[in-house]
Amino acid sequence: MEPDTIQTRLELVQSRISQAAENAGKRAEDISLVAVTKTRSVEEISQILECGVRDIGENYVQEALEKFGRIGDQANWHFIGHLQRNKVKQALRFANLIHSVDSLELAGEIGKRSLESQKTTDILLEVNLTGESSKTGYPLDQFEDFVEKVGSLSGIRICGLMGIGQLSSDPEDSRPFFRKLKSIYDMLPQEQQVYLSMGMTQDYEIAIEEGSNMVRIGTAIFGARF
Ligand SMILES: *Cc1c(COP(=O)(O)O)cnc(C)c1O
Repeated sequence: MEPDTIQTRLELVQSRISQAAENAGKRAEDISLVAVTKTRSVEEISQILECGVRDIGENYVQEALEKFGRIGDQANWHFIGHLQRNKVKQALRFANLIHSVDSLELAGEIGKRSLESQKTTDILLEVNLTGESSKTGYPLDQFEDFVEKVGSLSGIRICGLMGIGQLSSDPEDSRPFFRKLKSIYDMLPQEQQVYLSMGMTQDYEIAIEEGSNMVRIGTAIFGARF
């Protein structure tokens, strides 16, 4: 039996992504893989970069900054965790795409800080798909209004949507939520339809079948987090 290494696990994930893409009538290249590296060491991140993965996703600003100090622009850094307004300035030092914008205040702060450094930051709007109060994301029922208000801010560019499926033992439970998110994505102005970030270790194949073009995968590549 082959040893269970980051490389072999990654290859398995990539072949499953290809198969799911085919099921959805897409090519494997149409799907971006973001390797989720929270709690993983710089050594593990270096291994994934050697395998040709460029996109990595971090959840915590402090942890990401420490890793960014050692890895820098060899990777394309995504911020996928809950972002506090007082951490925005630091997050902008490394993040090229912020997936988790779930309030007007946060979007405003990202815009303001971006303008201060004369740049425009790419963001995704996070939708609260399942309505569970413990989860992050903007509520579905007022989402149209949210998109409009965020869209009028300067210093940011809306590049699509992000959502987290149903965290249950059956990945099929996520399918209706992913389908819903895709229908909202399809209503965005054309220029905002760049990334639909949905699907994690347990449900990425279903997410791709339902129209995801960006999956965020940690455990299936690196093993369980402790
Ligand atoms: C941790 C995390 C992931 C990756 O989860 P896995 O189950 O390890 O694949 C994806 N998206 C977000 C927002 C996360 O916080």
